[in-house]
Amino acid sequence: MRVLLAEDETLLAETLKEGLEDQHWVVDVAADGETALAFALTYPYDAILLDWGLPKLDGAAVCRQLRSEGVHTGIIMLTCRDGLDDRVRGLDGGADDYLVKPVHLRELLARLRAQSRREAPRPAARLAVADVELDPATGVVTRNGHEIQLARKEFLILEILMRAPGRLFSKAELLDRAWPADSAAGDETVRTHIKQLRKKLDSEGPALIRTVHGLGYKIAP
Ligand code: CA
Repeated sequence: MRVLLAEDETLLAETLKEGLEDQHWVVDVAADGETALAFALTYPYDAILLDWGLPKLDGAAVCRQLRSEGVHTGIIMLTCRDGLDDRVRGLDGGADDYLVKPVHLRELLARLRAQSRREAPRPAARLAVADVELDPATGVVTRNGHEIQLARKEFLILEILMRAPGRLFSKAELLDRAWPADSAAGDETVRTHIKQLRKKLDSEGPALIRTVHGLGYKIAP
């Protein structure tokens, strides 16, 4: 799951980014409204966290412009305590939810989960393909009942594949979904991670991740 965090307070942005990454979110940070808008029009996000007081282009303007460009991704605005007018305007202007600063990570995660469920109906509970089970909420992967320890990116890739069993994902698509925009990762990085992931999964059963030559990867029993 990928989220855009538009926040100009560096310390807050860093803290939230770390907390979200710990929960397996891929996080892009934009420190001003113009960058946020450009990111949101370029990358597929599952949710957008939008500070209302941003330099260059404020949150309200970013939100309006995204909606007018047909971007329907869930937007959670971050406002200050006395920002009642902002919140009303924000909700009227196309935002889906809001959080009042100071932001508490646990509440933010709960709102994000609710938001991404609303966006695209997907199983909120654990995912299963053949004898592999993945629980997005706890970050636990098992095969045949045995827990498999995965690195963060391996987990993300597996989650992406398992959310759409049988669907083909190109390396570029996996890069877009599992790595932040400023990452230097390329096709070779994806290949390496898939290799590691296979090694760990296949130690507990037959091969599940298929390579479709020159096109990409899919998971199929
Ligand atoms: Ca701000």
